[in-house]
Amino acid sequence: MRKKIVAGNWKMNKTHEEGLKLATEIVNMVKDEVRNDAQLVICPSFVSLQGIAKLLDSRVSIGAQNCNSKASGAYTGEVSVEMLKAIDVKYVILGHSERREYFKETNLELAEKVNIVLKNGLIPIFCCGETLKQREKGIHIEFVNSQLTESLFHLSDDEFRKVVIAYEPIWAIGTGVTASTAQAQEMHEKIRKHLISKYGKTAEETSILYGGSCKPDNAKELFACKDVDGGLIGGASLKSRDFVDIIKSF
Ligand code: PEP
Repeated sequence: MRKKIVAGNWKMNKTHEEGLKLATEIVNMVKDEVRNDAQLVICPSFVSLQGIAKLLDSRVSIGAQNCNSKASGAYTGEVSVEMLKAIDVKYVILGHSERREYFKETNLELAEKVNIVLKNGLIPIFCCGETLKQREKGIHIEFVNSQLTESLFHLSDDEFRKVVIAYEPIWAIGTGVTASTAQAQEMHEKIRKHLISKYGKTAEETSILYGGSCKPDNAKELFACKDVDGGLIGGASLKSRDFVDIIKSF
């Protein structure tokens, strides 16, 4: 059975105090209202990880939004996976389109990040997705497949088993434009096919999350798609009511 996952990417939002308040609200609402068995993940900024990790339980885990590809050393301003592991971080978002665009992260560098995250026993949430231009040119499938191939296909079967994928069409992130259910299902199916071509049955169990303006009013139909196993949520994860309503959509 594929794991159902809803992860909230807070990006560069919320001070520590605000983050504690939001996380407390989410944990309490989940306890009272959520009956499904989806795994929930909250991904605040680095400075809030330790404080928020202490509030969470087996239903709600904590994830980071990035990490460095090196184990340690003279990399001023960076955070290692070992540091994340030491404060009970379980997931790391890798290759978000904002990091690819603003921080020039490449598929090759992301392959190294995936390696070090897995080596330390954490779970990468590996993001992929095309621009509107690529979709209009009809090269979106090829582009997304190349992101997957170049960053993941060196992994062994056992390593790949732990990876979570997030398909996030860039044109849908933070824009209010959501992929239609047909577009989401088509891409998730293509992604799964590509993963199966390399990892066979293992990839049938891979959780593939959808990300891009997912909200309480569209989550239900997106999550009902055969190959959509949950969501990576940006804007709507900053409001406890919206985030929990998305989780309840399963
Ligand atoms: C994201 O940035 O991962 C994301 C999905 O953002 P939003 O939900 O705001 O489109």
